[in-house]
Amino acid sequence: MDRDPTLAPRPGKLWLVGAGPGDPDLLTLRAARLLASADIVVHDGLVGDGVLALIPPHVPRISVAKQRSRHTMKQELINELIVREALDGKQVVRLKGGDPFIFGRGGEELDAARDAGVACEVVPGITAAAGCAAQAGLPLTHRDDASAVSFVAGQCKDLSDQDWSGLAGHGRTLVIYMGLATASAIADKLIADGVAPDLPVAVIERGTTADARVLRTLLTDLGDLVAREAVQSPALIVVGKVAARADALDCLGAPGIAEQIKDLT
Ligand code: SAH
Repeated sequence: MDRDPTLAPRPGKLWLVGAGPGDPDLLTLRAARLLASADIVVHDGLVGDGVLALIPPHVPRISVAKQRSRHTMKQELINELIVREALDGKQVVRLKGGDPFIFGRGGEELDAARDAGVACEVVPGITAAAGCAAQAGLPLTHRDDASAVSFVAGQCKDLSDQDWSGLAGHGRTLVIYMGLATASAIADKLIADGVAPDLPVAVIERGTTADARVLRTLLTDLGDLVAREAVQSPALIVVGKVAARADALDCLGAPGIAEQIKDLT
C-alpha cells in the first residue's frame, strides 16, 4: 500500500534476531517483543514452529528456507529483500536459527544494511552448541576435561584443505555444525591429524525440541553411527572428553563397535 506522501516517512529498521535452537522458551525477551511488533518477518527454515507461532497472524512472514546444496533463495536476494522492506519504512525482523552471527550469514546481512544506509540492530540468540549441550547435560568446558571450545562448520567444500589440527584432543572440545553429511570424512580427517580414535563423541539431533536425541560413541565410529541411526538434520557433533558426560544413549554396544575398539587397543 502507498503511504500518504504528505506524511514524513517513518524510518524503517532491520532487526537481525536470533531465534535460539528450537524451543520457544529459549528466545530472549527482546526477540519475543520484536516478533509481536514487527511489520514483516523473514525467517529461516531452522526456526521452529513454536517460535513462528509467536508472530501475530496479520504480520506477513516470508520463509527463505535453505537446504544443503539447494538454496531456495540466494543470500544476495535475501539481502535485497530485507533491505528493500526496511527502506520502505518497515520494522523488518530477520529471524535466524540460534545466534545470527554463528554460521548464520548474519554478518553479510548486516553489511548489506550498512551499505544501504539502513539502521540495523542485532539481537543475540542461544546458539545450537550452547542450547543443545545444556539440554544434554554436556558441559562444553569442564575443569577436568576441557578449557577450550571451538565451533566449526562441517559443510565445507574442501574439507581436506581445512586445518583443524589443535581444535580437538586433549583439553579441548570441538563442536561441529552442519557436519552430518560429512561426518565420516570429518572423523577420518581428525584421526589422520592425530586425534585419538577413541575420543568420545556425542551427536545431538534436533536439540532442545521434544524429538531430541543424544547419541554417544567414539570418534572412530562417528560416520557409522550417523548412518545406522539415520540421524536427521539439524544435528550437532561434539568431539571431546566432555561428550562422555552427556545424558546420552550409549551406542558403543552396536554391532561392529567391539571390533573397532579392539583394534584401538
Ligand atoms: N545460527 C545457528 C547455526 C546455523 S547453521 C546457531 O547459532 O545455532 C545450522 C546448523 O546448526 C545445523 O546444521 C546444525 O548443525 C546446527 N543446529 C541448529 N539447530 C540445531 C538443533 N536444534 N539441534 C542440533 N543442531 C542444530
